[in-house]
Amino acid sequence: MTNAEPPKPKNDFIREIVAEDTRTGKWDGRVVTRFPPEPNGYLHIGHASSICLNFGIAGDFGGVCHLRFDDTNPVREEDEYVQAIKEDVRWLGFDWGDNEYYASDYFDQLYEWAKQLIRDGKAYVDDQSPEEIRKTRGTLKEPGRESPFRNRSADENLDLLERMKTGEFPDGSKVLRAKIDMTSPNLNLRDPVLYRILHAKHHRTGGKWCIYPMYDFAHGQSDSIEKVTHSICTLEFEDHRPLYDWLCDALGIYHPQQIEFARRNTTHTITSKRKLLALVEENHVDGWDDPRMPTISGMRRRGYTAEAVRNFCERIGIAKRGNAVELALLEHCVREHLNKVAPRRMAVLRPLKVTITNWPKGEVVHVEAVNNPEDESAGKRMIPFSGTLWIERDDFMENPPKKFFRLAPGREVRLRYGYFITCNEVVRNDAGEIVELLCTYDPETKGGNSPDGRKVKATLHWVSAEHAVETEVRLYKTLFTIENPNKTPENEDWRDFLNPESLEVLAPCYAEPDLRDANPGDRVQFERLGYFCVDTKDSRPGAPVFNRSVTLRDEWAKLQKQG
Ligand code: ATP
Ligand code: MG
Repeated sequence: MTNAEPPKPKNDFIREIVAEDTRTGKWDGRVVTRFPPEPNGYLHIGHASSICLNFGIAGDFGGVCHLRFDDTNPVREEDEYVQAIKEDVRWLGFDWGDNEYYASDYFDQLYEWAKQLIRDGKAYVDDQSPEEIRKTRGTLKEPGRESPFRNRSADENLDLLERMKTGEFPDGSKVLRAKIDMTSPNLNLRDPVLYRILHAKHHRTGGKWCIYPMYDFAHGQSDSIEKVTHSICTLEFEDHRPLYDWLCDALGIYHPQQIEFARRNTTHTITSKRKLLALVEENHVDGWDDPRMPTISGMRRRGYTAEAVRNFCERIGIAKRGNAVELALLEHCVREHLNKVAPRRMAVLRPLKVTITNWPKGEVVHVEAVNNPEDESAGKRMIPFSGTLWIERDDFMENPPKKFFRLAPGREVRLRYGYFITCNEVVRNDAGEIVELLCTYDPETKGGNSPDGRKVKATLHWVSAEHAVETEVRLYKTLFTIENPNKTPENEDWRDFLNPESLEVLAPCYAEPDLRDANPGDRVQFERLGYFCVDTKDSRPGAPVFNRSVTLRDEWAKLQKQG
């Protein structure tokens, strides 16, 4: 099912159920799962977990996984989301083949089933307002009250439903309800609404319908129509299962098995689609694919690899109850993969000019550099070295404290793959700021090697000023300042916890010359600075923009060591 390496044997409580069903022949050996997004937003890291689980199980057991759009709410859904969801699932490495379905394709069937329920005395049209229905529903402690319209005849109900369908009544004036039990301890069984009137255009069925099935009357039925064997969903649907069971039994139709697992979220992350949409619409971020977003498209644009995201989902596994997972673990997985595949380059993000006063005027020397110490096959490259360089501003201090070993007046350091240089003089502008360092180099130290065993305490990265490509670099921090932005203190808006420092834009920055030809989406490690990805939206030919995917420091490894 995935394009990557063959799946390792995995085990979790859902796979145990599937394995047992396969052994006993419960579903005649079939395994059919589905990933059922509502096309009302972009997919996020929690969805990735569900995708890996559903496609993963189908793959492990020789079954199939359907991609089904649960598009029952015309007001919030759009084709843009359908396309984005398909792109994201594909990017993650999964293939649904011909099994692409839409709940809206079942609207005719659902309508027939609604009539069947009416004929069997199991559904009725209620004229109460949504407000009244809510009020008479009761609470966990108190039973609900029956609607005065509950005992209409089947004929009257059929007639009313038909007229609801033909558009005779305004929105909210009538609903179709299942006739179950207003005293049930499970609120979902207190005559739940099955159909509502909505004079709205649907992204697929257009103006054909003005009544739409509720999610609870579409989801389980869609699973049934598609002969899904294991209908895997998140915990909030546990209390809906008795309703899905009741409906399948009442209609006498194929009955999939629903299994619930805990939602997966990461710390410092919001996964509510409503809130993610607000971030986009209120311009707190640059669209759904802003690299700070927890969306799959955001992670892709940031430079995360599909392999790293899958690996993360696999590592966290699934659980019956669960907490948010440390964001550091996701970053660890990204770092681990990029360490293997990302070529190394040098770039200077906060440039300080270095002039080498004893460098032969106009001379350019090419020095050899290793492309990836983790991957010999990545080979080597030649980098130009000249008399004017950029180094990192942070790598110089005029009055260094004891523990600062990098460049300072009178001190010698190594330029990686280049030469040893010694700082002799500091040049200031009129405002008194340091704008340039005058240094000398030792011609005997080419390649950064000491000829006489002489030691230097620091190795700095650099680029040749005349050769470097000028770029913009974007650094990211978490979008939220608190660990759990899903639960903010009362009376406070979750937006108040947006991190004002989540994006830092640096320009001009300078990178090795061959990055001039980098393609959007290319990934690279800038030595000492982290892993970066060429932005797919804002880069121009010859002018790449780099997004930092992750830093080099591994907070997760540190956490593990401490633990
Ligand atoms: P909505 O509130 O719009 O329903 P949703 O997050 O449930 O939001 P869906 O499009 O309904 O979004 O989700 C598609 C599938 O992904 C569902 O089966 C859902 O259970 C699963 N899913 C959603 N969020 C998570 C999560 N955080 N962890 C694991 N699975 C998730
Ligand atoms: Mg949902």
